[in-house]
Amino acid sequence: MSKKIIEEAAEIAAQLEEQLKFYRDIGIGDLGGSASGTPEMASGADFAARPSPALGSSAVASRASEASREAKPALANEPAMAIEKPEPGQAVLFGDLGGSSEAGRVRPRSQSLPVLEARDASLEAIREDIGECTRCKLHEHRKNIVFGEGNPRAKLVFIGEGPGAEEDATGRPFVGRAGQLLDKIIAAIGLKREDVYIANVVKCRPPGNRTPERDEVGTCEQFVFRQIAVIRPRVIVALGSPAFQCLMRTRDSISRARGEWRELDGVKVMPTFHPAFLLRSPDKKREVWDDMKKVRDYLNEPGDPVS
Ligand code: URA
Repeated sequence: MSKKIIEEAAEIAAQLEEQLKFYRDIGIGDLGGSASGTPEMASGADFAARPSPALGSSAVASRASEASREAKPALANEPAMAIEKPEPGQAVLFGDLGGSSEAGRVRPRSQSLPVLEARDASLEAIREDIGECTRCKLHEHRKNIVFGEGNPRAKLVFIGEGPGAEEDATGRPFVGRAGQLLDKIIAAIGLKREDVYIANVVKCRPPGNRTPERDEVGTCEQFVFRQIAVIRPRVIVALGSPAFQCLMRTRDSISRARGEWRELDGVKVMPTFHPAFLLRSPDKKREVWDDMKKVRDYLNEPGDPVS
């Protein structure tokens, strides 16, 4: 056998070993199990249908509170792209997009992405600005504001949609079952939780773990953008449709978008499935591993390669 073939076989074996290790690490004994739920994680709320946040401006909050009177509740398991026929009220909801409507299909004009303007001196300053927030209705049932935690100089930031019960009880992001899986995913790319920064789009738990509604996201998202602007990571991993749609001002579903690099004001964004979705659909862990390898490889490269 030629040396080249032996080297190629060794390379394939190493890749397989690495893949198997990831599956073992994240508890994937059940590959090939039946999928349940949708990767959108009940993403009925359409976070693309808003203008870019004027970071640090109270305009966002006031626009959002106006919108809150019109917003309809998110529909569980409604795919993010299911906007074939405008429902009553939808023209108003999407009116600010300036899109054209053809044969009942709403076509949004592309939204400009937020500029990550570092207007805060520190993460602490942002936390202080949030205070004992009552800006949206989510404050009514929350126990704790879940601001975010981790390395303030992290190269890698994970953004989820909003706190669940355990996060609400502890004030810390991703500490429940999904959080434990996220810890394993982080470990699988050779990092520790303390190396990265973890935050959510909304800082208070939506009742019953429902998807945050548009007005809630519109009110709270300025803080996640400000956090990202202060940290200025090299990569953001957007976990699930709500986080992805909010960050990227898009209606693309996570199933279509995952694995492809996006960019937010010079910061690479990798959309991937939410760990809570992986708990319900473990067969999707393969895709997440593919996505996380891209993140790991990018972070291991010395410069900022053009993708
Ligand atoms: N899901 C999220 O999106 N965020 C958390 O902090 C926990 C679960």
